[in-house]
Amino acid sequence: MYTKDKIHSLINEVPLLEDIMNLKPVVWLNPNKKSEAEMPSFPIKGEEIFEAEKLWDRFAPFFVKVFPETQSSNGTIESPLKEISNMKSVLNQESPKIIGRMMLKCDNALPIAGSIKARGGFYEVLHYAEELALHSGILNKTDDYSIFASDKFKEFFSRYKIGVGSTGNLGLSIGIISASLGFQVTVYVSSDAKEWKKNLLRKKGATVIEFGGDFSEAILAGRQKTNADPMGYFVDDENSNELYLGYAVGALRLARQLKDQNISVDKDHPLFVYSPCGVGGSPGGTAFGLKHLFGDNVHCFFVEPTHSPAVLTALATGEMSNISVQDIGIDNKTEADGLAVGQASNFATNISNHLISGMYTIEDDHLFTLLAQLMDSENIFLEPSATAGLIGPQMIAQTDYAKKNHLNMKNATHIAWATGGDLVPKEERKRFYEQGKSELAL
Ligand SMILES: *Cc1c(COP(=O)(O)O)cnc(C)c1O
Repeated sequence: MYTKDKIHSLINEVPLLEDIMNLKPVVWLNPNKKSEAEMPSFPIKGEEIFEAEKLWDRFAPFFVKVFPETQSSNGTIESPLKEISNMKSVLNQESPKIIGRMMLKCDNALPIAGSIKARGGFYEVLHYAEELALHSGILNKTDDYSIFASDKFKEFFSRYKIGVGSTGNLGLSIGIISASLGFQVTVYVSSDAKEWKKNLLRKKGATVIEFGGDFSEAILAGRQKTNADPMGYFVDDENSNELYLGYAVGALRLARQLKDQNISVDKDHPLFVYSPCGVGGSPGGTAFGLKHLFGDNVHCFFVEPTHSPAVLTALATGEMSNISVQDIGIDNKTEADGLAVGQASNFATNISNHLISGMYTIEDDHLFTLLAQLMDSENIFLEPSATAGLIGPQMIAQTDYAKKNHLNMKNATHIAWATGGDLVPKEERKRFYEQGKSELAL
């Protein structure tokens, strides 16, 4: 479908595509972004985020009971928002300087799953479990949901099967939450999936099935096998309403944290959010929630590895989820396994097209140096994927974005969304850190 001629004509329309194909780090400002006043309607409504948060509230007693680490937060799955002034100083050794406040949304520290997938992945499974229980008549929405930890409920769910195709954090989050509710859960992974992740999943009670081919084949096989079973339910990362809503709730929580820390977001106090992007679901859901709350005063940017610019290619060319990075000769090989995605989510990307301010790409080496710098300056460990947002302010400062939008950058708050890290084992952490340190020494 994407012949040489077709790609040439795409490059003619979008010259930046040539740099993307040559694996150069690029910044792209989105010409299709709509202001609040001219925002089209989407297949999902802002009010649904508030409904989604209520589902989380209903399940809080279940979390307190089954996951003791959530007792201190009364069963709320949330992460801190931290100012990272030391890291800002380190970053400011390079130009352009960051103007405004620099913060980190620490989803690496989300309870149980240690990544942003605790938002989307957990939400989708909880939503499905609630629906099954309501339909069968064993549950009322007003019940105390610690009942989900009972033998009766576990036995009920043990008749149902959940499948997911993922090499990484999505598989972990779906595996852990599904097994804790009593579902039979199967995680379909590609052969290059990390050993520790497969072991952890098996330990939690999930079945792990490996496929010889690449990740998209694992998803395809998993989807077919799961959907062929009348008791099966497939969590589809490439097209899911529920994952998206789970992520969007994160925006409500962030808004409250900003308020608690007396950080204004208004015309004179712009908010910038930089989110690592795989299929585009987690950054998309987050952006959807933030735009609903803050409108034109929030500026959302996504970031991808130079070797996996799936959503950037989709948006910049306008080809959306039809085009893959392989179609333009890119290998989709990156150490940022949360971002190693060749093709954009259809559902999320059609919405992001109108919401986001832009995107940029980052080289793998840079992810590791940021990992080491953040460890040294703030004593926070992130997995490589999760560091990508840290250079957002400096990437965007190279463009005329602030000037064109008349933004008062002195009052800006920059938030790098740190998407994961806490489940990474000690030996891997050490290896990542040392890789970053040796890059820095060059
Ligand atoms: C999944 C993931 C992302 C990206 O989320 P998508 O919904 O695939 O765009 C970013 N960082 C980490 C650590 C992840 O696990």
